[in-house]
Amino acid sequence: MLHSIDLAKPNITEAEVNAVVGVLRSGRLSLGPKLAEFEEAFATYCHTTEAVACSSGTAGLHLLIKAMEIGAGDEVITTPFSFVASANCALIEGARPVFVDIDPATWNIDPALIEPAVTEKTKAVIPVHVFGQPVDMDVITVMAQRHGLRVIEDSCEALGSRDGDRPAGSMGDAGVFGFYPNKQMTTGEGGMIVTSDADLARMCRSLRNQGRDGNGGWLAHPRLGYNYRLSDINCALGLVQLSRMDEIVAARARVESLYRERLGAEERLAMQAVRPNVAMSWFVLVVRLSEEYVQADRDRILKELSGRGIGCSNYFVPIHLQPFYVERFGHKPGDFPVCEALAQRTIALPFHHELTEADVDTVCGELLSLL
Ligand SMILES: *Cc1c(COP(=O)(O)O)cnc(C)c1O
Repeated sequence: MLHSIDLAKPNITEAEVNAVVGVLRSGRLSLGPKLAEFEEAFATYCHTTEAVACSSGTAGLHLLIKAMEIGAGDEVITTPFSFVASANCALIEGARPVFVDIDPATWNIDPALIEPAVTEKTKAVIPVHVFGQPVDMDVITVMAQRHGLRVIEDSCEALGSRDGDRPAGSMGDAGVFGFYPNKQMTTGEGGMIVTSDADLARMCRSLRNQGRDGNGGWLAHPRLGYNYRLSDINCALGLVQLSRMDEIVAARARVESLYRERLGAEERLAMQAVRPNVAMSWFVLVVRLSEEYVQADRDRILKELSGRGIGCSNYFVPIHLQPFYVERFGHKPGDFPVCEALAQRTIALPFHHELTEADVDTVCGELLSLL
């Protein structure tokens, strides 16, 4: 449906257009100079030594699971309040995603619940920086070291966010970003793994490129791999977007504060609580209805807003209640009550750089009238 106020919108300037045209004119469309340039700039931005570009955030998560040799019989602990890819990456390889509930204020995985869920089969933890907010990684890092677990930060929603001076994605064994057009920056489709583990990066590079090794030939495949490459066209677009991140983050922060001014004190709504020392790069703007509302109320509000030309959505449907998870693992409503109580009441409101104060007034006015 067409909305007069869009839910999301990429931030593309003439510089991005020219960069893409430049690659087209160069004739080097893949595995060319823009790939190395994009990876190097990205690693610098994330304070890691390595960055590995790939075809999507989902592909990046899958590459890490594969490179860490996680598979059948293994368990991976993660949050049910996320986009489905953060658990699917384990399931694709036959490992079991083990969910633990979330913190009711930050909406992120509750780090204190992870250790009780660790078993002999646990191989990794995948915390997700939901809507841009970095998970408290210190607790997770100490616990992971104690049990010999790998830590993959699903940072797909958190490019540009920091916890103190540490960028999202730089705090675990590896972090993953996604560049779908609704994210803070886009390459159309695309993703990036960041890590300071050179061996892990080398394995991810091989697996994304059909199992080739850096020094082998085009038809030498020492291992089973994939085509998860990112073209130079995408990389050129990403380079310009990355160079504009400060501007993009600031534009989104401006819109977030316009919403917070209008909705922050509203008793019938709650906004995501931001932990101290966190500098947010906002992915989406989600409000939560108070307990007096049920899911049907929320769904009616979404329908009404949409009918009035306002782009909106429910973020997220709990992963454990997706039909194939229910069928496979026997999950049922009530398994993760904090996650479910939130997921039934979320409303994502229009959120992008072009929104004016008048747009935010319109959105908030309509929302409050519907409450
Ligand atoms: C967007 C997103 C992904 C996947 O990114 P794609 O590039 O669409 O594959 C993974 N995890 C989370 C939490 C996301 O928001």
